[in-house]
Amino acid sequence: MTITQQEVQHVSLQKAQNYVNEVFEAVKKRNPNEKEFHQAVKEIFDSLVPVFAKHPHYMDNNVLERISEPERFLTFRVPWVDDEGKVRVNRGFRVQFNSNIGPYKGGLRFHPSVNASIIKFLGFEQIFKNSLTGQPIGGGKGGSDFDPKGKSDGEIMRFCQSFMTELCKYIGPDIDVPAGDIGVGAREIGYLFGQYKRIRGGFEAGVLTGKGLGYGGSLTRTEATGYGTVYFVEEMLKDKGLSFNGSTVIVSGSGNVSIYAIEKAAQLGAKVVACSDSDGYIYDAKGINIDTLKRIKEVERDRIQAYVKEHPDAIYHDNCSHIWSIPCDIALPCATQNEIDEKSAKMLVANGVKAIGEGANMPSTLEAIDVFLSHSILFGPAKAANAGGVAVSALEMAQNSMRMPWSFEEVDEKLYHIMKNIYQTSITAAKEYGHPGNLVVGANIAGFIKVADAMIAQGVI
Ligand code: NDP
Repeated sequence: MTITQQEVQHVSLQKAQNYVNEVFEAVKKRNPNEKEFHQAVKEIFDSLVPVFAKHPHYMDNNVLERISEPERFLTFRVPWVDDEGKVRVNRGFRVQFNSNIGPYKGGLRFHPSVNASIIKFLGFEQIFKNSLTGQPIGGGKGGSDFDPKGKSDGEIMRFCQSFMTELCKYIGPDIDVPAGDIGVGAREIGYLFGQYKRIRGGFEAGVLTGKGLGYGGSLTRTEATGYGTVYFVEEMLKDKGLSFNGSTVIVSGSGNVSIYAIEKAAQLGAKVVACSDSDGYIYDAKGINIDTLKRIKEVERDRIQAYVKEHPDAIYHDNCSHIWSIPCDIALPCATQNEIDEKSAKMLVANGVKAIGEGANMPSTLEAIDVFLSHSILFGPAKAANAGGVAVSALEMAQNSMRMPWSFEEVDEKLYHIMKNIYQTSITAAKEYGHPGNLVVGANIAGFIKVADAMIAQGVI
């Protein structure tokens, strides 16, 4: 009996699917009760089936089982003294997930929800995101269950110093380069850098990114993730003859990523009518005033509700997840993981959304992604759409190595081209592997292949 080409393909797809399922079960068993990590692994694994079918040597080298096990996972005690003189203790984390294409690179998150599962999901995603940027950076992530909300400046400083006193043993400009994430901005990076410098006795600028401009930071780093997300979405829209110009946009969150996504979308002619924090959201039919927003969030460190005091036409609502009920053309989830569930996704689709760009990490549940893809909504997944932050971090590392700063325009231009490239690479991979237009599959495959090839080239290590 002759086996047709189609049957060969079918057999090998089935074999690839079996391999993926087997490794996924092993990951779940080895990392019990880590639902966010399982979710991130599942999304990537499922996308890779056509890769294994076409290139079985990745299965022969068991790349999947190796890539889903961190090279190193650190947890440590972070003791610090509050303003009342009371000793407090938090837990610190750093996952050094993969260093096959460069030093570990990924932010630090300070938020009470942080645990091993969250850090591993973020670190795992970071491997593929960093690979997609085309820059020589591996995957890592870290943080603490410390809650910066309501803490004084002195408390933040003492916490950061204690955190770095332990972390500094494991990082360095060629080893592992942390940056900011939720709850870690320029102020925290400053305290962390100061403590690292003090302990090491040298000015190793490239050990952290997101630094202040006066001591080795890069222009455009603050704006990079938000701007990059908008540049990426603009590329998706262009392919369909659409653009930000004249569109109505909603952006969740009101932190670093959200603020600069709002700013860039508005610069491109969009009207951004809503944003949120974890308490609620504001709706301003005239378009959010970016200067007011920046002052409230970056200078006064106040809640988003304060916006309506200055803009009485704007409305504040208590439930932040209801932001997705506002009709819009483009939605940019820029707050946190799993903020768009199936119900919210259906609501967005029913209200006519045309494109989603994930500024946050894993903001859509797997069910929500299915809703978007099955309705042919343009969908820019986080690891591609929000890669601009880490891309400019790598540019900051390059400037630190050269001891030479670049201008805002120079970095912004590089960021724009990197985002355009990520889009092209992802859309091309999606088509090549039989899922035209599916950027989830395309980004996962393109990010994976580069790292997998480097792993194989470097042997079983
Ligand atoms: P920030 O701490 O600056 O801002 C986070 C924002 O999200 C805050 O407004 C916060 O509100 C809000 N938020 C948190 N939880 C919820 C919730 N459940 N519902 C609604 N709003 C919520 O963090 P970033 O802007 O840096 O990060 C946001 C997202 O982007 C994260 O997923 C992060 O991993 C991702 N990211 C960030 C990068 C960066 O360069 N900073 C790079 C790539 C990805 P509140 O003040 O009430 O907590």
